[in-house]
Amino acid sequence: QRSQPSDTKLANTCTPKTIDQLAREVGLFSEEVEPYGMTRAKVRLEVMNRLKSRPDGKYVVVTGITPTPAGEGNTTVTLGLARALGTHHSVNSFACVSQPSQCPNFGDKCSAVGGGYSQALPIEQVSFHLTSDTQAVMAASSHVVATIDARNLSDSTKSNKDQLSGSVARELMAVLGLSNSLEDLRCRLARMVVAYSRTGSPVTTEDLGVSGVLAKMMGKALMPNLMQTLEGTPVFVHTCPLSDTVQGNSSILADQMALKLVGSEGFVVTEAGGGVQLGLEKFFNIKCRSSGLTPDVVVLVASVRALKMYAGRSADTVGSVMTEEYSVEGTSPQPLNHAPTVENLALLERGCRHLKMQVKNAQAFGLPVVVAINTLSTDTDTELDLVRGQAELAGAVEAVACSPWAEGGAGAVELGQAVQRAAEMSHQMKFLYDLEIPIVHKIKIIAKSMYGAEDIVLLPEAQQKVALFSKQGWNNLPINMDLPTQLSLSHDPESSEASAGFILPVRDIHASVGAGFLCTLAGKVSTRVTRVQAGLKHDLV
Ligand code: ADP
Repeated sequence: QRSQPSDTKLANTCTPKTIDQLAREVGLFSEEVEPYGMTRAKVRLEVMNRLKSRPDGKYVVVTGITPTPAGEGNTTVTLGLARALGTHHSVNSFACVSQPSQCPNFGDKCSAVGGGYSQALPIEQVSFHLTSDTQAVMAASSHVVATIDARNLSDSTKSNKDQLSGSVARELMAVLGLSNSLEDLRCRLARMVVAYSRTGSPVTTEDLGVSGVLAKMMGKALMPNLMQTLEGTPVFVHTCPLSDTVQGNSSILADQMALKLVGSEGFVVTEAGGGVQLGLEKFFNIKCRSSGLTPDVVVLVASVRALKMYAGRSADTVGSVMTEEYSVEGTSPQPLNHAPTVENLALLERGCRHLKMQVKNAQAFGLPVVVAINTLSTDTDTELDLVRGQAELAGAVEAVACSPWAEGGAGAVELGQAVQRAAEMSHQMKFLYDLEIPIVHKIKIIAKSMYGAEDIVLLPEAQQKVALFSKQGWNNLPINMDLPTQLSLSHDPESSEASAGFILPVRDIHASVGAGFLCTLAGKVSTRVTRVQAGLKHDLV
């Protein structure tokens, strides 16, 4: 990597605009913002009323190839692209991202928003506490659990309480991310099913008499958090990956508000982190369904380093990666943890099969796909040309190298031009499935089209849930797949084995009625094909 001061050092060298100035610049009135210190503020939802007749700006969603442990720069590209559109292309622009998970290794990948010259400020606040939204969710969750306990509705062992508290908190965060208004928040909270009676009937927060309190506890958290990047571009940092639904996605209200603020000529760049299968699939099938918003362009971030990691360690097949990295149970093939930093075109070309698969996956939603190659200092021009060619061959409307980490917005000017061109193309957004089809069909469609599964199998608990949820009338909800993303490695578009795929066992399904989705839990994956690909001649485990 190019030598550059650390993110923290870079952040400390710049003086951010005051929040009043930033708010004025994006067109907010002072009574519409609630400052938290000098550099962040909550924005009141009344602004949506004031701007309701203003046309929305262009809506760009940034996702990535399957993530590697290092992170391949989705957030960095999101922030750099927003800056490039705003400054170098003279349109209003906004970035929308989620708050990072609060991992113990602060300062490392997972605790910052972006990096280098494309990061959100101030780094400590963006990582911890921010405006206490997470704390509001945790307090609301504790309140629900205490009420259930007081009513003697659950087995009150510590592990059950912890599990319940975790699942309530996850749904509350998802509700926060998917609500369109305060009223919508209230309705979603009221219909959350948090327990079952002794006779098996669902018990909602409304039944418990706590939905009003929950709305009060979480009302402020619904207001998007305004911050800025190191280069002064406005960014909403809202909701956090505590929720597995909006995993890597910012909130609906942040996107909606930003689209109004930038106006018809402007651009909002929102991140669907976690790669195409997790972030982007949920972005369309869950988030866009709830918001009613239609994006204009998908930006798919890839890097030469990650593609080499997906190609394998030596000049062997993709399968040999799996032989080394695959667990005996066959659950989770991991990419290599490092990739050669010298030019290696053969390795890179093999890794591009993964990119091609992801371009095709991203195209499934009917929008133009622009590939952004996040360059590292070790990439050569020939390697970048190779990735560009392969991406365009796979159907990307353009593939552009960018360097937002090293250069900020100046490093994403060409990418911005490509995005502007793509946003002018005619398109028709598609969902992967209709809500009305049976639950099993919906799961099967996602498993086949996004993960390359040959089929799914429902284990007994999941079968019972399908019957129960259909009886309750929850069968028309979208699906929130909880799967290891690395499964996509077994999905090779150029291999005849791709169609053979693997059988995906669905262990259990949970209903998040307030958030509005059914969450599937995967069991151990059958290893017939992956083992064959790995050169192991065993049949199904
Ligand atoms: P993701 O959103 O895909 O997880 P991030 O944007 O958070 O990835 O970036 C992951 C890490 O990699 C961050 O620490 C960031 O500073 C760093 N990074 C991103 N792009 C580059 C680059 N082109 N060169 C060097 N480091 C980078």
